[in-house]
Amino acid sequence: MLPVVELKGVTHAYLGEREASLAVEDLNLSIGSGEFVSLVGPSGCGKTTLLSIIAGLLQPSEGEVSVYGRPIHNPSPEIGYMLQQDYLFPWRTILENALLGLELTGNLNEENRRKTVELLGDMGLAGKEDAYPSQLSGGMRQRVALVRTLATDPGLLLLDEPFSALDYQIKLQLEDLVSETLRRRGTTAILVTHDLSEAIAVSNRVILLEPNPGRIRKVFTVPESIREVPPLYARDQPGFAELFHEVWKEMEQAGSKSV
Ligand code: ADP
Ligand code: MG
Repeated sequence: MLPVVELKGVTHAYLGEREASLAVEDLNLSIGSGEFVSLVGPSGCGKTTLLSIIAGLLQPSEGEVSVYGRPIHNPSPEIGYMLQQDYLFPWRTILENALLGLELTGNLNEENRRKTVELLGDMGLAGKEDAYPSQLSGGMRQRVALVRTLATDPGLLLLDEPFSALDYQIKLQLEDLVSETLRRRGTTAILVTHDLSEAIAVSNRVILLEPNPGRIRKVFTVPESIREVPPLYARDQPGFAELFHEVWKEMEQAGSKSV
């Protein structure tokens, strides 16, 4: 089967005034349909750069990127990207913000509106439809951004630390909800997270990047026994703690490259 995402020899350098910094170098990666992949690694190892490249927002200095078998040069409606800091429009209500993607892609109809209201409810935002972003907490606003990204039902979803500002309890609930929603829809997803236990609990594969330059250090495949249960229970499965320590140790070594 054709991979959904394919990167071949992707290198990206940011050009500064005095020097060029190599954010990612010679990345090769292939992600299959319906696969859930997490990107982890020390700060500055190129995670956000990589997502922006896959989203078509950033042209790499070198290499080929294709999504659904086509070279990607621009953002496309089949790719949903929730940025690390995703801003809501302050003058739009919560529901109007959540419907924005559907509106922009010309897919706003009664059924999609109803599904979006339902999704807001699933995310614990029932009754907030007519509120404005300034009336919500940071964690709530982040959940609205997540609903906005999910509402268009993209085939490929790119998430940059979507749960990082949330309370632990809510974060665990949302991991379950998002993971279940994506599994049901058959969505392919790439999640950037600094939470290793989250990465292992939700993914088929965990890709560890190292900095200076950003490269793939190691790929961990999550065993089916962990994968088949909801993220909340995955943490209790045999083998989870061992895998966590394995990734952790490797991450520490990757981190020592940055000093
Ligand atoms: P991560 O998301 O893993 O923390 P980034 O992709 O944001 O990493 O950054 C990778 C490297 O590229 C870092 O060294 C960072 O300083 C640099 N970088 C990121 N964005 C820019 C930019 N817009 N201009 C210059 N350098 C950048
Ligand atoms: Mg980042």
